[in-house]
Amino acid sequence: MNIGILGLGLIGGSLGLDLRSHGHYVFGVSRQESTCTKAIALGSVDEASVNMNLLTAVEVVFICTPIGLIIPTIEQLITHLPANVVITDVGSVKTPIVKAISPLWTNFIGGHPMAGTAESGIEAAQRHLFVDRPYVLTPTATTPPEAISTVEKIVKQLGSKLYYCPPENHDRAVSWISHLPVMVSAALITACLGESDPEVLQLAKKLASSGFRDTSRVGGGNPELGMMMAQYNQQEVLRSLHQYRHDLDELIHLIEQENWTGLEAKLKLTQSSRPEFVEDC
Ligand code: NAP
Repeated sequence: MNIGILGLGLIGGSLGLDLRSHGHYVFGVSRQESTCTKAIALGSVDEASVNMNLLTAVEVVFICTPIGLIIPTIEQLITHLPANVVITDVGSVKTPIVKAISPLWTNFIGGHPMAGTAESGIEAAQRHLFVDRPYVLTPTATTPPEAISTVEKIVKQLGSKLYYCPPENHDRAVSWISHLPVMVSAALITACLGESDPEVLQLAKKLASSGFRDTSRVGGGNPELGMMMAQYNQQEVLRSLHQYRHDLDELIHLIEQENWTGLEAKLKLTQSSRPEFVEDC
C-alpha cells in the first residue's frame, strides 16, 4: 500500500520504520528539508518532501504533526487529495480534531497510539514502538466502514492492541490516566517547594528516593506536554482535577477526624484497585 506520513518526528518516524518493514511504500512530508533527508537516511520513509503534493498518490495519510497543527494541516492537505484517500491522525486528544475534520473529509478517522518516549524529533524514531501498546480509533456514526477497516488493518500490522471508542470517551479516559497524573504530579512538586524552612527543604531534597521518583516523574517532564493536555482537553482535565480535589478533601477529613478505620478502608481499596489499571504491580 502507498502510505503518507505528514510530520516526521518521534511518532511519524517510528510509524514509517514499521510500515516499511511490512512492505508498504511510505511517502513522508515534513516542515524542514533536513528532517526529510534524515528520515530517508534512517529508513523511516521511501521518499520525502516539504511539499504536500508528494501525497497525491497515497491511499492513506497519517497526520503526525504537533497537536495544535493537526487541524490546519489537514485543512491544507485536503486541497491536494482525491476524495477516496483515507486520513487519520495520531493526536493525543480526539474530540476537537474529530469535530473539526469530520465535516470536511468523509474518509477521516481519528486515532491515538498510546506509545511514546520522552524524546522528540526524527532522530528519536524507533522500530516496534507500537507493539503491544493500545491504539485507539475513534470513528463516528458517519465514518465509512471501508475507512475504518483500512486503518484497522494497518494498526494491526503494527502489533498494537486496538480499541474503539467515541472521541469524547477517549478524551475523558485519557484525562484520568494520563492528564490528571501530570497535573497531580506537578502539584506534588510545587507543594514540596512550598516548604517554608530552607533547611528542611534542603533535607527533603537529599532524602527524596524511589517513592518521590515514581510520583514526580510525569510532573517533572516536558512542560509542552502538560500545556497541550490542559489546552486541548480542558473540560476533561478540569473534571478530573475537581474529582481529585474532592478525594484529597476526603483524605484530609479522615485524618483530621483520626478516622483510622476509614482511612485504612480507603487505602485497602486503592491497593486492590491499582492492578486494574496497571499490570506490573
Ligand atoms: P515530534 O517528535 O515533535 O514530531 C512532530 C514533527 O512534526 C516534527 O518533527 C516536525 O518536523 C513536524 N512538523 C512540525 N510542524 C510541521 C508542519 N507545519 N508541517 C509538517 N510537519 C511539521 O512530536 P511527536 O511526539 O511525534 O508527536 C506528534 C503527534 O503525536 C502529536 O500530535 C502528539 O499529540 C501525538 N502523540 C505523541 C505521543 C508521544 O508520546 N510523543 C504519543 C502519542 C501521540 P520538522 O523536523 O520537519 O520540523
